[in-house]
Amino acid sequence: MIHGQEGVKFQNWAQTYGSSPELYFQPTSVEEIREILDLARQRSKRVKVVGGGHSPSDIACTDDFMLHLGKMNKILKVDEEKRRVTVEAGILLSDLNVELSKHGLALPNLGAVSEVAAAGVIGTGTHNTGIKHGILPTQVVALTLLTASGQILECSESASPRIFQAARLHLGCLGVVLSVTFQCVPEFCLVETSFPSTLQEVLDNLDSHLQRSEYFRFLWFPHSENVSVIYQDHTDKPPSSSTSWFWDYAVGYYLLEFLLWLSTFLPGLVRWVNRCFFWLLFTRKVENVNLSYKIFNYECRFRQHVQDWAIPIEKTREALRELQATLENSPGLVAHYPVEVRFARGDDILLSPCFQRDSCYVNVIMYRPYGKDVPRLDYWPAYESIMKKAGGRPHWAKAHTCTRKDLEKMYPGFRQFCAIREELDPTGMFLNPYLERVFY
Ligand SMILES: Cc1cc2nc3c(=O)[nH]c(=O)nc-3n(C[C@H](O)[C@H](O)[C@H](O)COP(=O)(O)OP(=O)(O)OC[C@H]3O[C@@H](n4cnc5c(N)ncnc54)[C@H](O)[C@@H]3O)c2cc1C
Repeated sequence: MIHGQEGVKFQNWAQTYGSSPELYFQPTSVEEIREILDLARQRSKRVKVVGGGHSPSDIACTDDFMLHLGKMNKILKVDEEKRRVTVEAGILLSDLNVELSKHGLALPNLGAVSEVAAAGVIGTGTHNTGIKHGILPTQVVALTLLTASGQILECSESASPRIFQAARLHLGCLGVVLSVTFQCVPEFCLVETSFPSTLQEVLDNLDSHLQRSEYFRFLWFPHSENVSVIYQDHTDKPPSSSTSWFWDYAVGYYLLEFLLWLSTFLPGLVRWVNRCFFWLLFTRKVENVNLSYKIFNYECRFRQHVQDWAIPIEKTREALRELQATLENSPGLVAHYPVEVRFARGDDILLSPCFQRDSCYVNVIMYRPYGKDVPRLDYWPAYESIMKKAGGRPHWAKAHTCTRKDLEKMYPGFRQFCAIREELDPTGMFLNPYLERVFY
């Protein structure tokens, strides 16, 4: 009989949400997972699988049974001809990146961190940037689900295609994802070039930036017109780096954290910090070359609160200008840098924020210097209402206040997803308080 641990405390990466699961399991086989589901059924408990615990919301929290698949993290198959890899769902992308490299393969796109699990990263619709690229779940060509009834479901475009379009972005509520097959590409290097610009210039020339660079994004420094443009593109150049410990860490990390902490007593300081740090760290052209995953992944600095909505790409200018005007017209509102603006191609995944439309993601943060919360209770609703007005859809992993009523309007495929969820999990075994807000 599989043993569940008592007294485990779960906390997400940002330490903004946590829970105390009654029992915490680390199964090593499908049979053990089945036993856990049987026990949950007998005791009327709910079950939550946690991946890397990186979601900045309570989506992975539970006070019932928590499963961590860290011991189910093997590579099951590499098909070098089709360039596909099948992995157990608990593998961290940081391990997968290294293994793929040994086969001359890579994932075509990645988010900012790789300490996330294969099933977890697709579960919330993780994205990066690049208008020719979809969000990470679009890289999935097949997956296996263990449903609440103990049935194993193989899903792909040809096997259970209806469930596949739901399960590629599953929110952890359709069953336990056992394995995932990713479409890969030949291993590649990227050259990352960042250079200073202004919000006006970037918004005026958005199409041209999107065409000029495969993975284009930009960082806007709120309370100013300053922007740092980042291009990432395939290259044959040898790896090189122009990062400096002094500027990146001594200034960009330790001094910044201290000043942001100070700003919790003097909020006006934030405006000065945003301008000053742009001038110190982002006014020269910088170039780095490395393997793709080493460039895609970047330092997210300290723990933070975060919101990230996807809006139709044609609303980018209007929404950002409105956010800027709101910040300027409300002297009490302060916003940390950066507001990160990324792009993704439309897709057909039911709960994808990019469902049937090319999108722009506007990611806003409020850091927690030394773990201290900075007031954001005016900023957050102002941002949300601008995103809603622009026809936005929230990132599932991040903070949002949407309930079923909002989500039904935002996601054309929402009801279809709900029907599939109710079919696969009629008793709500895989729900938790976050998912109840979403579905009820
Ligand atoms: C520093 C940092 C940087 C980030 N950068 C980005 C970024 O660039 N782009 C972006 O879009 N997001 C980003 N995120 C958000 C992050 O990518 C998502 O929250 C992602 O889902 C985290 O993966 P995880 O493995 O930690 O999942 P968790 O947070 O552990 O879980 C996420 C969901 O997946 C479910 N789940 C996990 N494994 C299984 C399984 N085997 N079966 C069923 N359900 C499962 C969980 O129940 C939960 O519902 C970032 C977060 C942090 C903290």
